[in-house]
Amino acid sequence: MTNQHHVTHTCLKHPLIITLLASILMLFAILLTQTSLAQAEELIQQDTHIPNQSTEQLLDSNNSHLAGPPIILTHYGMVLPQPRPDPRTVFPETEPSLRIFIENQSGIAIDSDESLYRLKSGEGLSNLLKRAGFDGQMRESAIQHIQNHRSLRRLPIGFPVYAIAPTDHTPGGIRISLNNEQDLSLYYNTEDKEWRSIRSFRPYEYFLTYISGDIENSLYKSSISAGMTDAMFNDFIHIMSFSVDFQRQIRAGDEFEALVEYRRDMITEKVVPGGEIYYLSLKLSGEKIEYFRHQQASGSVGYYDRLGVSAYRTLMRTPINGARLSSGFGNRKHPILGYTKAHRGADFAAPTGTPIMAAGDGMVEYSGWNGSYGRYVRIVHNGTFKTAYAHMSGISKNVRSGARVNQGDIIGYVGSSGRSTGPHLHYEIIVNGSHVNPLTVELPSGNPLTTNEKIRLAENIEIITKEMSVRGIINYASIQFSQRLALQQK
Ligand SMILES: [Zn+2]
Repeated sequence: MTNQHHVTHTCLKHPLIITLLASILMLFAILLTQTSLAQAEELIQQDTHIPNQSTEQLLDSNNSHLAGPPIILTHYGMVLPQPRPDPRTVFPETEPSLRIFIENQSGIAIDSDESLYRLKSGEGLSNLLKRAGFDGQMRESAIQHIQNHRSLRRLPIGFPVYAIAPTDHTPGGIRISLNNEQDLSLYYNTEDKEWRSIRSFRPYEYFLTYISGDIENSLYKSSISAGMTDAMFNDFIHIMSFSVDFQRQIRAGDEFEALVEYRRDMITEKVVPGGEIYYLSLKLSGEKIEYFRHQQASGSVGYYDRLGVSAYRTLMRTPINGARLSSGFGNRKHPILGYTKAHRGADFAAPTGTPIMAAGDGMVEYSGWNGSYGRYVRIVHNGTFKTAYAHMSGISKNVRSGARVNQGDIIGYVGSSGRSTGPHLHYEIIVNGSHVNPLTVELPSGNPLTTNEKIRLAENIEIITKEMSVRGIINYASIQFSQRLALQQK
């Protein structure tokens, strides 16, 4: 009671001064925000490199697997080079509450909290805003503002819009998502009857996590249950696909390790794509293949082993979607697997329709029906290497003779056309005109690192190793790491 009285008393002492000070501060804050925002707006207009994906994709791209396995999330603590100044340092972050966000940005108090509206079938944004309580003129000008930032054509059903209906004395507000990274908030200034728009970044948290596991019956299932997201698994397969034949080399009991980064949207609390993989290893029948993420001074990112050899080769050994392929190696049914001299290629059993990728950059030499090969594509990569793909159910329509293809482009789909006993990809690598075993042929790796980059890589490996070691790895051992430990103990 006495306390309360005392507080009230102090506050009432200088009401005028406090009000004056607050008003001055608020004016300054508004001025500052408006200027820096205007500058930032220009910056981002020049440099919009973020793909414009729909919010639905964002909302759906969460990882439901994360709820299952116990994963220890340790806070992001890695110092790695940033390629360019982050626009996130210039723009404000989206507040979970639209009301608080607008209050902070405008300095005007708002009476009520926002509600979530979702676009109904056959409804346009204008109808949605009408439901939310905006009059015709406000809706029209709001839509004009929004259209400066994103296209409103083909908004998906269920598209979320946060809105606060205006009242006589407080402005209304709207928030929509521009893409995976950014939101647009609008508030209606009742004085000049104009909308103000503020672009903001969704706040993310990053978590570095060490993942490891034994392969039980599928690399995919084991990786996902160890905590990898689907996007991480696809990267994992891609990085390893140059050195590993996922259909034949993976055995039950093989082990994998990874140091990955989760990126979590702090508003939806969902893991979203965009985290990096820093380290990957596969221990196949006792032999360990490992790669470290390394960003060169030029900005280009790659994966390298301890000697600086790139994970990427001119050709892929497994030019097929690894997730589909490895989804059930424990119960393979297909009779014609593997490589024999007479057979002249490697067969990958996979469901009909599984995408087939160009194993390397090159030019299509043949595309179409080719006797017992069925639907067939052959690519010339350089003076030495050609690859061929047979029994497809379909060939991608731009893969015609003479067309250029890039490594990883989808050239067609697994099928059973021609002389074939079931859906599979028949894959051939031809070296100087002779067929070789795709699973064992020596393949040149990408551009080698310079001496200077090898030194930088060694530093990077040290950082990554240290990050792994603080995350409590017991089965991770390397010469560098034990040497380093010994050094630190001196
Ligand atoms: Zn075959």
